[in-house]
Amino acid sequence: MPAHKRILLKLSGEALMGDDAFGINRATIVRMVEEIAEVTRLGVQVAVVIGGGNIFRGVAGGSVGMDRATADYMGMLATVMNSLALADTMDKAGLVARVMSAISIEQVVEPYVRPKALQYLEEGKVVIFAAGTGNPFFTTDTAAALRGAEIGAEIVLKATKVDGVYSADPNKDPSATRYTSISFDEAMGKNLQVMDATAFALCRDQKLPVKVFSIFKHGALRRVVMGEDEGTLVHV
Ligand code: UDP
Repeated sequence: MPAHKRILLKLSGEALMGDDAFGINRATIVRMVEEIAEVTRLGVQVAVVIGGGNIFRGVAGGSVGMDRATADYMGMLATVMNSLALADTMDKAGLVARVMSAISIEQVVEPYVRPKALQYLEEGKVVIFAAGTGNPFFTTDTAAALRGAEIGAEIVLKATKVDGVYSADPNKDPSATRYTSISFDEAMGKNLQVMDATAFALCRDQKLPVKVFSIFKHGALRRVVMGEDEGTLVHV
């Protein structure tokens, strides 16, 4: 039996790059969709928020010298591109996916309407939330927290490259250990990086637990959904 009925999965844009320097790596996105398909087969309702860092970030790279809000809108559009790629890959894998955007681009994707999103989830469709929160100066981590709370997800699953939250950077410090679980307050006190501050505060206020895990570890998403010891649970 899965431990959760409805999850909000946050994928970073960079997760789609694979070993490429930019954009979307085909084999990587296909593999990721396979992992997601496996949990939908368990009967779990899956909503996804995808980032855009593999294409454009408001605060980095090509945005230097740009107006921040304009750059952030470009970043949000990048998440729409990733969402379309993800939905297309899901369709090909036999999943039914619906993209809902926080910014209206109606010829491309339907707008985010909460009751409709809930209906899709009840119908077993994967809902992909595009364009972050729809507001500049926010991140897709915050969009994950926001949508997760709105749709009544039981948990936000934050997929990263590292398989959890560590006492120190495991790439730099070999003695670093992974936390199986940690409270929001403890994580904050120890200054551990879980999500950005806005997303973190929203999850804590809404008592919405977050699980940090590696999407690159085969079967990890399934183990997380089954409630097995995988990644780090951040709880109230
Ligand atoms: N963004 C934004 N508002 C949001 C979500 C995202 O302005 O609610 C912009 C912001 O410029 C950000 C970019 O979209 O840098 C891509 O999102 P993010 O950096 O969260 O992607 P990830 O790091 O997960 O790939």
